[in-house]
Amino acid sequence: SDENEQYSFAIVGSGPAGMYAADKLLHMKNSSSSSSSSSSSSSNNVLIDAKVDVYEKECFPYGLVRFGVAPDHQATKNVTNKFDALLRDERVRLFANVKVGSVGNENDDDGEGLRVSTKELLERYSGVVLAHGAADNDRKLQIENEDTLRGVYGARQFVNWYNGLPSAAPMRNKEMHEDIVDRLQNKKNGSNVVIVGVGNVTLDCARILLRSPEELKETDIASHALEALEKANVNSVTIVGRRSVAQAKFSPKELREVLNLPDLDVQIDDLEVTEEDIEEMNASRPRRRAFEVLEKAKKEGAATKSDGDDAKGGTRKILRVLFLRSPTGLLPEDDISSSPSSLGFVKIRKNILQGPTGNRQATLSNDQVRDETILPCDILIRSVGYVGDKLEPNLVPSDKNGTIVHDGLGRVRYNEDSSASATGRLYVCGWAKRGASGVIATNVQCAEETAEAIKEDILNGLLKPAARILPPPPSNTITASKWFKLDAVERGESDREETEEEDVEEKSESNKKA
Ligand code: FAD
Repeated sequence: SDENEQYSFAIVGSGPAGMYAADKLLHMKNSSSSSSSSSSSSSNNVLIDAKVDVYEKECFPYGLVRFGVAPDHQATKNVTNKFDALLRDERVRLFANVKVGSVGNENDDDGEGLRVSTKELLERYSGVVLAHGAADNDRKLQIENEDTLRGVYGARQFVNWYNGLPSAAPMRNKEMHEDIVDRLQNKKNGSNVVIVGVGNVTLDCARILLRSPEELKETDIASHALEALEKANVNSVTIVGRRSVAQAKFSPKELREVLNLPDLDVQIDDLEVTEEDIEEMNASRPRRRAFEVLEKAKKEGAATKSDGDDAKGGTRKILRVLFLRSPTGLLPEDDISSSPSSLGFVKIRKNILQGPTGNRQATLSNDQVRDETILPCDILIRSVGYVGDKLEPNLVPSDKNGTIVHDGLGRVRYNEDSSASATGRLYVCGWAKRGASGVIATNVQCAEETAEAIKEDILNGLLKPAARILPPPPSNTITASKWFKLDAVERGESDREETEEEDVEEKSESNKKA
């Protein structure tokens, strides 16, 4: 490539993957990794001139860092300082409130916000990096009455609610808000919540439900959720895991945090481990440590007390952890006066693990009479993985979870026919590339891998340099400077800038209506 050439990139999504990709693309050097340090001709090791436009469908950047990470984990959100610095780099532009994807997709729901197709981006940029995540929808449990009873929520819905994502706020989703409030506040003997799944998002939801309102007040939880939880009367939270403790994905630190909450009675079932469990745990230090944390909590729980099934009186709550069990069906409240469409109970049955060590699968026990129990359940939260929306099914191949098919490094094999006039090349990064697993930091290396593939393609002459003048921002987008002002207002760091804020609110509202 020519030293004077500039390359332009569109990044789809401003979550960690998109932001780390932007960072890596601005730091690509004009030397191939294979021709490392020994070759040092003058044209080598020069920064490749690159510009980046980040397209984001929400009115604000940073994806799950803003609307996934729990409000009481403020330190985790400090990574946004780094992202803020990136957005202040003059080579980077943010176009928020712009959804990428052509109109008429199978998942094309709402017509909200502004829109630009991937094909248009491929026509305008040297390269397009898809970093749109993979956690749009919660995977279902596929059990009886899951879709018909009120009170059943996906973890993403519940998390969106307490994090104040606009689409889950009372103003936009009144029905869900009122249902959650009613279920948390108006149950005679306190509410019983069941969360299915044994990963950290389950622990986030449990913690938010079990933490004291005084502590929640110190976090940046959405005000409508704080208000609801201040008046809530939670009796118990029950976590249900399909397989044994050896396969649980809790991280030890997060487990300790929830188990050590004050005024909590902890009950842990089926923590007995088999030889296979031990073998599997020995292969994974975090799993072994998570087991030890649970074992300790179980012992301490037994030593302090056990006063039956209900945390009677006072403000004590119960946290129950059940392994080797699956929900098999949901039942309506038995109260005849209440609506039959309202969740009241969950049927839980024991599982047996089968298959080779390291890959054992859970199968339901056949003995329904002996192994099935019915638990009171006012809210059921499923937290057993995600399915991403398909971005543009005709252009970009993806698997059933919405993960984009790529060459192992991040080059997308897309359907060239449907982008005949495209000059750009297509790449993928983050959860859209790897599926919904891994922490924020996992995306650093993932972005590096994708940027490395892009650099190789530049050095091999496969990417076209950009036109010097980049496309103007779509009108009505929320740019970085606009967003910084809004964020300052939200944090109370600036006087309320009436016109600017209302301007944006109005725009996003009118886009929603349009
Ligand atoms: P995302 O963060 O999902 O970002 C994707 C972005 O693309 C979003 O901003 C989205 O709005 C945008 N987008 C989607 N479609 C389009 C489109 N068509 N056009 C334009 N923009 C689009 N990790 C930790 O390290 N610590 C934690 O505490 C933690 N808590 C978590 C809590 C929850 C509930 C979840 C689900 C995950 C959590 N994680 C945590 C994991 C972490 O959030 C992910 O590793 C990370 O966010 C994945 O980054 P991403 O950029 O690939 O996806």
